[in-house]
Amino acid sequence: MKLLEDRIKRDGTVLPGEVLKVDNFLNHQVDPQLMYEIGGEFKRLFEDAGVTRILTVESSGIAPALMAGLRMNVPVVFARKHRSLTLTDNLYTATVYSYTKQVNNDISIDKRFIDPDDKILIIDDFLANGQAVQGMLEICKAAQVEVAGVGVVIEKRFQKGHQMVLDQGIHLEALASIASLDDNQVTFAAPDAK
Ligand code: 5GP
Repeated sequence: MKLLEDRIKRDGTVLPGEVLKVDNFLNHQVDPQLMYEIGGEFKRLFEDAGVTRILTVESSGIAPALMAGLRMNVPVVFARKHRSLTLTDNLYTATVYSYTKQVNNDISIDKRFIDPDDKILIIDDFLANGQAVQGMLEICKAAQVEVAGVGVVIEKRFQKGHQMVLDQGIHLEALASIASLDDNQVTFAAPDAK
């Protein structure tokens, strides 16, 4: 997605540990207009997949997932990382190792917000080693629902997550695919390199 690649080139910075910082449009300050376009792109890519619900994880997945839900006219549920007093025991839970924070988080969603006949589109901001997506796939498995696909705003193709998702036969779409962050430079993967 050219608009997104241009924005990454303009505003992204590379941090040690192969982390791309995009906190002025995605991870801290959020650009609603760009998120709206991102939602439209997810709609275009998963239009024929019969999606009934979108699943993401708080907090940075919420903005793109919400816009995808708006454009696709389906509800959005986000897995919570912290157990709230208003969450009961009626939960699906998975343990996820956070790439950027280097801690384990239990992510949970209330069973009321996933139906057995759902077809779930998983959305997240980044795909790195695939832990967050794997946690959401585990929740889908526990709920015995079909997964329509995985959509990420930015994937770091050189890390494990990309192949891990494809190896499970899941339809994966990344709106920007980064081949390398070497020498503090963002290099995008060729568009047809799946
Ligand atoms: P994974 O679970 O695939 O290893 O990492 C995905 C999660 O880690 C994302 O939800 C995102 O919050 C965070 N993350 C991983 N790599 C990056 C990165 O390069 N930049 C930013 N801003 N977040 C990242």
